[in-house]
Amino acid sequence: MAQPAKTELTVQGIAASQGIAYGQIFVYIQSDVEVPSYQVEAEKRIEEVSRFDRALITTRQQISKIQGEVEKNLGAEEALIFDAHLMALEDPALIGETIREFESTGQNIETCFNKVSQRYIQAFAKFEDEYLRERASDIRDVAQRVLQNLLGQAENSLSRLADKRIVVANDISPSDSASIDRSAAIALVTDSGSKTSHAVIVARSMKVPAVVGVRNLTKRARNGDWAIVDGYDGVVILNPSESTLFRYGKIQERKKSFEARLLQANREKAVTLDGVPVSLMANIEKVDEVAQVKSFAAEGVGLYRTEYLFLNSARIPTEQEQFLAYKEVAESVAPHPVIIRTLDLGGDKPMSGNPDLFPKENNPFMGFRAIRFCLEHQDIFKDQLRAILRSSAHGKVRIMYPMISGSEELLRANAVLAECMTELKGRGIPFDENLEVGAMIEIPSAAVTADILAKDCAFFSIGTNDLIQYLLAIDRVNDRIAHLYEPTHPAVVRTVKHIVDEAHKQGVPVSVCGEMAGDPVYAPLLLGLGIDALSMSPSWLPSVKYLVRAMTMADARALAAESLTMESPKEIYARCDAFYRARVKVE
Ligand code: PEP
Ligand code: MG
Repeated sequence: MAQPAKTELTVQGIAASQGIAYGQIFVYIQSDVEVPSYQVEAEKRIEEVSRFDRALITTRQQISKIQGEVEKNLGAEEALIFDAHLMALEDPALIGETIREFESTGQNIETCFNKVSQRYIQAFAKFEDEYLRERASDIRDVAQRVLQNLLGQAENSLSRLADKRIVVANDISPSDSASIDRSAAIALVTDSGSKTSHAVIVARSMKVPAVVGVRNLTKRARNGDWAIVDGYDGVVILNPSESTLFRYGKIQERKKSFEARLLQANREKAVTLDGVPVSLMANIEKVDEVAQVKSFAAEGVGLYRTEYLFLNSARIPTEQEQFLAYKEVAESVAPHPVIIRTLDLGGDKPMSGNPDLFPKENNPFMGFRAIRFCLEHQDIFKDQLRAILRSSAHGKVRIMYPMISGSEELLRANAVLAECMTELKGRGIPFDENLEVGAMIEIPSAAVTADILAKDCAFFSIGTNDLIQYLLAIDRVNDRIAHLYEPTHPAVVRTVKHIVDEAHKQGVPVSVCGEMAGDPVYAPLLLGLGIDALSMSPSWLPSVKYLVRAMTMADARALAAESLTMESPKEIYARCDAFYRARVKVE
């Protein structure tokens, strides 16, 4: 009997990255397997070991199947990696130790296997030898699979999508985003999140549409369901009807012609109608994104989030590995500047492969992260600073510290930097001795003490993603309160004004590198408040540049002045939106 046609279902979320996609869904369940822990009764212990055997057999079959497919589609060499996975699975030490752990503790087999495999992962990750270090990620991959099989969870991997797919996930963590199959994911949709969650930043860097905060979609959508993702209006339509598809086809045509106009204008200079040049820069996370910096004609990199080199790794990249990455970016972007942000791990960017360095915290956003971590792990910090300094001999590099809360932290970081400079000088290694050093202003205490920080900074960059979160006490990744995350809150507008005024008194330029900078509705407000440069995901540059070329700075200043007198976030937003719509005919 024919299956009844599935009914169309429209769900509203938050528009997070522009574009429209139509395709089949892949439902992604977080890869970090939660391992329950319990005691196994004596009479059930034999069955527990059989359960382990069965999970190992299933895992072996799955890996062999993937190996066969990869060999067929990509070639024998690509398939070799799975030999290492099969070997890890048959490793008598790993399996034997798990059984011994089980016999001595009586804890469920998942807990024992997890304990033993984590021990192995940590041990291999510490080796100098690259081959042995890679064994750590082989064991991690295999261990995840075994645990999923033990727990009866479906196999799921973002890094190996079968074909072009709309990825629907509960959330996409930074480490997921580092491994996502960028050639196959055509849109991202997440149950949780707000406009500044990392899934959004990733979608924008991939130039694919994204909708976030679509509660429970992972529960309603099935693998293989067809859907439209409308990243302009924040809508996802499951099982669209013929007439909906036709309507969206028309919308897509119009959007495409508008985007072509934006791209055409992007070749021109970013100058307002009254002749004021505006500096528009790019945010990047990975070295290969420098291609976009160029293709979107950014005037340099205003934020290079270096933590992405660390996220999916069980070990800290060496100074040399970091140097090569930073040098490549500096060389490709020269003569424009590259602002390299020192490590911002922790909080929403935990280093999952390294639980020893980042123990679980109750409140990671206010915890052991970023500069706090670097000042306590100065060996790691110094490796990074030396790598950045060395790269400064190959382009125009600047250093920026994240999460600075006050001048003491800034001075301590600068003291470590000075030590690194002395060391390099002593070894005759070249670097730019006049390299500029600045701070992100993203914690309210830094904003309030901007006058003090300005004395020791060559520049400021306002991280509005975090600044808004801390100023308004709104978790930036919590969809339940996403509607309260208001960039036009008077507290935000006044704080930006305060930072700019204090910095400018001392001749310190101020840029914005949070998501607000890449939104053409907010950009005029920021420029009117005196912001000197805007840094954003490269794909947002055309729409911001288009607006800059359609407005006068005098009007932007008037908008800012008026906003400073207003009391309601909604009113200020409406004013900014009207400013934008009056200048850009949105189709
Ligand atoms: C910010 O907080 O605005 C920012 C740019 O940094 P991140 O999003 O990486 O925290
Ligand atoms: Mg931040």
